Amino acid sequence: MPGYDFLSDQLSVFLGLANGCGMGFWELSDNIISLDQGAAAIAGLENDASLEFKAFLELLDPESRRNIFDTLRRALKTAGKQDALDCRVFNKKTKTWRWVRIVGESRQDGNKKQVLGAVQLIEEPSQLAEKVETLTRELARKDLLYQCVPEMAGMLLKAGTLGFENNFHACLELTARTVGLVRAYLYKNHLVDGVLHCSRVHEWAGEGEPALKEDAADSPYYAWPGLREVLEGGKNYNRLSKNIPREIKTFMSKKVQAVLFVPIFFNELFWGFMGYEHSLEKRVFNADEESVLSCAALLLANTHIHNELHQNLCVAVDKISTATIKAEEMEKAAYTDALTGIYNRRHFMDLAQVTLEKAKRFNSLCYSMMLDLDFFKKVNDVCGHLAGDEVLRNVSRVIKNALRSYDLLARYGGEEFVTLISDTKKDDVLNLAERVREAVANTPAIYNCIKIPCTISIGVAESFPDCTITSLIGRADSALYAAKEAGRNRVVYYPGD
Ligand code: GH3
Ligand code: MG
Ligand code: MG
Repeated sequence: MPGYDFLSDQLSVFLGLANGCGMGFWELSDNIISLDQGAAAIAGLENDASLEFKAFLELLDPESRRNIFDTLRRALKTAGKQDALDCRVFNKKTKTWRWVRIVGESRQDGNKKQVLGAVQLIEEPSQLAEKVETLTRELARKDLLYQCVPEMAGMLLKAGTLGFENNFHACLELTARTVGLVRAYLYKNHLVDGVLHCSRVHEWAGEGEPALKEDAADSPYYAWPGLREVLEGGKNYNRLSKNIPREIKTFMSKKVQAVLFVPIFFNELFWGFMGYEHSLEKRVFNADEESVLSCAALLLANTHIHNELHQNLCVAVDKISTATIKAEEMEKAAYTDALTGIYNRRHFMDLAQVTLEKAKRFNSLCYSMMLDLDFFKKVNDVCGHLAGDEVLRNVSRVIKNALRSYDLLARYGGEEFVTLISDTKKDDVLNLAERVREAVANTPAIYNCIKIPCTISIGVAESFPDCTITSLIGRADSALYAAKEAGRNRVVYYPGD
């Protein structure tokens, strides 16, 4: 058989199979089939067996025998074309039937016909179906497992910060149910008197499962012997329940078979861990489960951390805005009168001085009005102090409404008001003063459903060379005194002007 050994070696190398494959060679003219070492081993024969075609057939079961005739017939008709057949071979040594695949090819050597066949052990078809089914089931489970992470990510992204707690819990539950967990929880580290503790921030427990024991809700790491070292080293703690220290086991229910703790780091610091428990079989979490649960842990813990940061940020922003509002309120209180809300005397004097100086520079005149409520003491005496306050608020509103927005108005003290009017002529100021007087007289305050009428006396003065705001107000005050003397509820212009 020239070249046969070489071919057989090549085929074995090509298939990469040391066992379970071999070759056979049949010279039709002498009716002898030669089997190489591999093929002989499959049938449980001695090395390099040569056997008659009849003896070869006896190695096969009846159905395979019938089939091989058909295959041979085809092969002989179509020289150089390969044909394959699955059949059962009896192993004489083990006395068992084995499934093999024979790939045969016929050829013509001169006037001699030859058949060359390669044989390889294969799985029994029914076993193969079972294997495929197990594999399909396994794949489906893997698919479900790995799908759980993107599904969770989607849920977390959609949730935003509102309803975060519920969503987080739903995600924990999704992971737990997909993997078949008894419990899943997130622990966060913190220091108590310099000792590292961990406290539970989230937990999901299956139906009928008690929550983690209360003393496990916040405990120092020394209560979980060996755990911190593994986690701090950045490794998962994946152990059978029987292989974990007694102290940790006491935190779990009896049916738990294995635990998986995944460390969480934030800004390169050991932040806490995610814990998972299963009661499926006596085995640790397998590679797929561990990889999915590690991903889920990172995703969930990061979402928790970011939500926490967001909440802290909201509190900080809240504090800053409260402080800003307080500062604004204080600033406003510094220049307004608490009762009426108009400027106070100090602020008025500052602003009025600036306006007066500016008017002088442009050679224009300013006017000041002093306004004093008539017989106001009586209002207090008759209606009470609170009613008096309402009258003051009402009068300040009426005066403010009669003025232009850029005229200055302040409560000068008690029941006296002061204004500074610029960019106006004397007649207009007098008209304005008259309008104010009339408006006050016609707009009684209402307190406890009672109308409280009130009148006002007004003194008006015009700015003069070298005048200051104090001297201008002094003149307006003299005019006011004159108005009071003249009988009240009237406007008097400063006599010298
Ligand atoms: P006249 O017409 O001469 O101005 O008489 P009058 O009663 O208005 O003047 P008088 O100066 O005698 O009284 C002023 C009163 O104003 C005395 C004081 O109790 C009252 N008063 C001052 N400030 C307030 C305040 O903030 N609220 C209330 N309710 N009354 C005030
Ligand atoms: Mg007064
Ligand atoms: Mg008065």
